[in-house]
Amino acid sequence: MLSVVIPAYNEAGAISQAAQSIGQVLRNADIPYELIFVDDGSADSSWEEIMQTAEQDPTVRGISFSRNFGKEAAIFAGMEVSKGECCAVMDCDLQHPPEKLPEMYALWQQGWEVVNGVKTDRGQESGLHSFAAKTFYSIMSKAIRLDMSRASDFKLMDRRVVKTLLDLSEHKTFFRALVAWAGFRTAEVEFSVAERTVGDTHWSTASLFRYAISNIAAYSSAPMQIVTVLGVLTLLLSLVLGVQTLVNWACGGAADGFTTVIILMLLIGSILMISLGIIGYYIAQIFIEVKARPRYLVARACGQERNGQV
Ligand code: UDP
Ligand code: MG
Repeated sequence: MLSVVIPAYNEAGAISQAAQSIGQVLRNADIPYELIFVDDGSADSSWEEIMQTAEQDPTVRGISFSRNFGKEAAIFAGMEVSKGECCAVMDCDLQHPPEKLPEMYALWQQGWEVVNGVKTDRGQESGLHSFAAKTFYSIMSKAIRLDMSRASDFKLMDRRVVKTLLDLSEHKTFFRALVAWAGFRTAEVEFSVAERTVGDTHWSTASLFRYAISNIAAYSSAPMQIVTVLGVLTLLLSLVLGVQTLVNWACGGAADGFTTVIILMLLIGSILMISLGIIGYYIAQIFIEVKARPRYLVARACGQERNGQV
């Protein structure tokens, strides 16, 4: 059986349509399936929609978070309750084409353990947005030493991969990077990002920026090394200026150079503060991980087999 995990946050208008289109494609291809909608603490009537869809369609199940925990948490929660031998993850807004699922399923049957949906294009994005995305993915690709530039959350994974991911204890997850990190035999299926059918994207530029920074920090300690590099650079600079100051003193012109002192103080002061900030960020991440709070809290569940249990 194929489990399809669909995170949904304020997607009331998209849920029944998603269930229909995905179900249709899978029935036509004769693939046994279940659909798992994860309501990520929506503020609209998404959960009611999910319950209604589950009532009419026995292949649909749903769980609902106690509040908004984010898409990453929703993906993991869906995988946790999935029962299929393979598990697909896709967006609720049908930007990931369901028509690709049979192709991905066929690859899984041929023995591929991870089937990645890769974007042939990034849909319609503004110039600045696509520049920022490019920079982020090139840093991430270096951090995990795998090409992430066309990666997406549209994936199909074997149960073994799902289990590997679920066994990871880290609180801060970045699904597409973790799947790449896990390895396994990986195939690719290309898709082009469709336009959103209903509603609007949940990502503002600021939230994408925060997301990028926290993911880079979670997968790479390079920013910490920048601190070391800056330290070495200021050391070199201080050697040069130190020699110059001594020469000045020896020649009897020591009172000069007040400008240099001010510039140096400003420079070193800012480098120190930036460095403390970077180190502080990592300490904050460690603090979050050490607390080991659950990634999400499930408040409600619906659909067959679960019998309303959470
Ligand atoms: N999503 C979620 N929790 C969030 C934000 C988004 O579960 O806090 C879901 C959303 O319902 C959708 C998917 O993640 O199914 C992708 O979100 P969106 O379409 O807003 O992102 P984009 O496609 O613009 O990257
Ligand atoms: Mg979308």
